[in-house]
Amino acid sequence: MYINSLAFAQSQDQQDPLHSFRNEFLFPTDEQGQKLIYLCGNSLGLQPKKTSEYIQQELNDWSKYGVEGHTDAKNPWLPYHEFLTNSMAKIVGAKPSEVVIMNSLTANLHFMMVSFYQPTKTKYKIIIESDAFPSDKYAVESQLKFHGFDPKEGLILWKPREGEDLCRFEDLEEIMKNQGDEIALLMIGSTNYYSGQSFPLKKITKLGHQYGAIVGFDLAHGAGNIQPNLHDINADFAVWCTYKYLNSGPGSLGGCFVHERHENNSELKRFTGWWGHNKQTRFNMRHDFDALVGAEGWQLSNPSILSMAAIRASLDVFEEAGFDNIRKKAVKLTGYLEFLINDLKNPLINIITPSNPEERGCQLSIQVKSADKNLHTQLTKAGVISDWREPDVIRIAPAPLYNSFEDVFHFVVKLKIVLKNG
Ligand SMILES: *Cc1c(COP(=O)(O)O)cnc(C)c1O
Repeated sequence: MYINSLAFAQSQDQQDPLHSFRNEFLFPTDEQGQKLIYLCGNSLGLQPKKTSEYIQQELNDWSKYGVEGHTDAKNPWLPYHEFLTNSMAKIVGAKPSEVVIMNSLTANLHFMMVSFYQPTKTKYKIIIESDAFPSDKYAVESQLKFHGFDPKEGLILWKPREGEDLCRFEDLEEIMKNQGDEIALLMIGSTNYYSGQSFPLKKITKLGHQYGAIVGFDLAHGAGNIQPNLHDINADFAVWCTYKYLNSGPGSLGGCFVHERHENNSELKRFTGWWGHNKQTRFNMRHDFDALVGAEGWQLSNPSILSMAAIRASLDVFEEAGFDNIRKKAVKLTGYLEFLINDLKNPLINIITPSNPEERGCQLSIQVKSADKNLHTQLTKAGVISDWREPDVIRIAPAPLYNSFEDVFHFVVKLKIVLKNG
């Protein structure tokens, strides 16, 4: 169904109902002002053109109203995070009351573990996937230590088998069969940042719950990329960032999900702050802590409105495009990338990412045996922004909102040339 030709790529772009969304983003350019081929939305998504206008609105209202902007700004700052909730909830498949934008990813992961990792002497172990993003591993290890456990004992890695690159669900089942009674928490990345593998979230959740464990997901590479259906799969909690596929700018605020079955659970310990307190009495500043119901009750601080404005601009683009359409395009676009790479018939190339679209988002992790970082340098010189992981993997993520079939076609042509010259 795919053809290796520029004409085919162009015709796919013409038929693509989302093609015009590309014009709503700002692309980095070379010295001649030519758009670079940007395939790095898994690391930092591009800036929507709307973003500066949304941020400017808040700067204007700040200058016009000062502190009164909390209530008098066009978009009042006190409830500002509420403007983001519905759109964000759709993107992660949650009910609005289950989602809140706050803090940043690793901070949210810790706050969630304060509530959801409550180990006992015998049930204290945490499972993560091996090759989890370093920040997640550090966070989990430090939680183990904080509770007096040795990470060497308490941290269980779900690993690919010898000679393989991907994790198999059967192996997670095996770990649970052997050690399920000791496992307190499964904390898994929904989509692995290195391999691009998306895990079966529903099956993992069910498995963890069978053994009385809590199941949480890090959606850093999932949010805005795959549909995790957090509510329906019954995940206990999830955290994510908004600067990768969610295009909300470097270091922008993170997202957090708490399943509604925990919303009134007073058994859960939590670290609290005034922003999680009942909105009606928050400013009386006297009352004992009275948690808001739902994910909002985990908020601590009043959030950065400038960052929220950027998230809002991006979510408006997602809302306009429709997440189902975005995902549909991603399946086609990444399929085209895979087809073109396989068509190079280069024996040195091995795509690590699963070929089943259900088991991946838009990223392909391409291993080039015998390559070193020079490959990445050469691609950059050729006008491609991509991402290199030692020792020999290049990660390419065509983001369906702003990448085209033509981008993907030109990338593979450049890859071929660089490989030939290298
Ligand atoms: C990007 C990423 C992070 C980054 O964490 P921050 O707290 O936002 O700096 C953490 N974990 C994973 C899996 C990531 O992909």
